Amino acid sequence: MTNTSDNFDADVVVVGGGIIGGSFACLLGQAGLKVILLDAGVRQVNSLKKVDARVFAITRASEQILKKAGAWRRIQENEIACFRKMHVWDENGLGEINFDSASICQPTMGYIISHQVIIDALQEKLLDMENVRCIWSASAAFIKNETNAMLLETEDGLQFRSKLVVAADGCNSKIRSLANIHYHKHDYKQSALACVVTTEYPHEEIARQRFLKRGPLAFLPMLDPHQSAIVWSTNPDHAQRLKESDKSVFHFELAEAFANELGEIKESSERIVFPLSRAQAEQYVQPRLALIGDSAHTVHPLAGLGANLGLLDAAALADVLIDSVSRGRDPGRLQVLRRYERRRKGENHSVMYLMDGFKHLFENETQTVQWLRNLGLDMVDSLPIAKHAIMKRAMGLEGNLPIIARGRS
Ligand SMILES: Cc1cc2nc3c(=O)[nH]c(=O)nc-3n(C[C@H](O)[C@H](O)[C@H](O)COP(=O)(O)OP(=O)(O)OC[C@H]3O[C@@H](n4cnc5c(N)ncnc54)[C@H](O)[C@@H]3O)c2cc1C
Repeated sequence: MTNTSDNFDADVVVVGGGIIGGSFACLLGQAGLKVILLDAGVRQVNSLKKVDARVFAITRASEQILKKAGAWRRIQENEIACFRKMHVWDENGLGEINFDSASICQPTMGYIISHQVIIDALQEKLLDMENVRCIWSASAAFIKNETNAMLLETEDGLQFRSKLVVAADGCNSKIRSLANIHYHKHDYKQSALACVVTTEYPHEEIARQRFLKRGPLAFLPMLDPHQSAIVWSTNPDHAQRLKESDKSVFHFELAEAFANELGEIKESSERIVFPLSRAQAEQYVQPRLALIGDSAHTVHPLAGLGANLGLLDAAALADVLIDSVSRGRDPGRLQVLRRYERRRKGENHSVMYLMDGFKHLFENETQTVQWLRNLGLDMVDSLPIAKHAIMKRAMGLEGNLPIIARGRS
């Protein structure tokens, strides 16, 4: 498809080979564009030697994106867990809500897959594409818009000219700061503790979340019926204390916080702690530059949406670029890139504030608010039409989806 002239090293240089940058590079590669992907890290081949505490809930829309990126089929069946139901309830009160994929004739609500499994599948696919060149241990250090091309230089002095640079270099994006794009960041003063635990009772493929007054505690079902990945959002001191506590103390406190829903905690993996914030870049695009994934925004993990939103960015930008290249247009033009920004910025903003709303609602200790939110949970639970609409939207089956995220692969 591409007719990259000799003045360009690539149509697009992607900075960052995480889930979002890797998927984006695969999508462009599949469409025949010439791509260079740089990552500051070392490439790790099949690096999953131990239990990965970083585990993602992947929506059905993200499944489509990973399929079209050519990565999904490289994930083994025994590396993908399904969750067919979801159970959400409040520490203070009897209100609860239950979702079941069967009620909307779907085989599953989504998947639970470890971060490293997805990265390995993407890297395998990237290495298979002749029009995509991956360079590891290469940190982007400098960019310059030369009007007809974007020049990017790495810390080691490698230089690349392309029509467009796409930043997928995470929440502390170097490219975003080189471009002087302001990142509106709100520190939640919360941290999330993540690890994989073995429970006394089987999870029955149900994703569970209990809202505690310090923050939500989620158990995501893994392939082993007794294993779940947990994400426990709480205040930073508590998270640190949990991380450092003896296994037996940690297991006891976790089971108690989860109201012994899955019985005793029998075993647990390494515990990792992430600080939590919500952030949004003031602009997603400039001439010859676009931001995707965490470099453009971060959200609270309470709905497990961060990477899913980033994948929608990758799909929306790929839609726009593939279309513009097929019409012979310059993919780095601001008018082209604005189409991506219009599709994603408002949408990400709405999700961000919806998560904020939930967070504040469930942390509110006023009795009236507690009573109202429990009533609200029960009301939605008893209204199938509203419940089904929420489910379809959250699963990525409906809504304003990029073409790449829709339908069959
Ligand atoms: C506790 C927790 C639980 C979560 N759970 C979920 C979940 O269940 N579902 C979900 O969808 N999301 C979840 N998220 C969010 C998710 O982790 C992120 O949104 C996602 O990983 C962002 O991916 P990314 O590729 O944009 O950034 P990153 O994963 O941060 O990747 C950035 C890449 O850029 C590279 N890089 C950085 N700087 C440079 C540079 N100067 N030059 C070259 N390369 C560079 C890095 O080496 C890295 O490979 C969770 C987040 C947290 C904190």
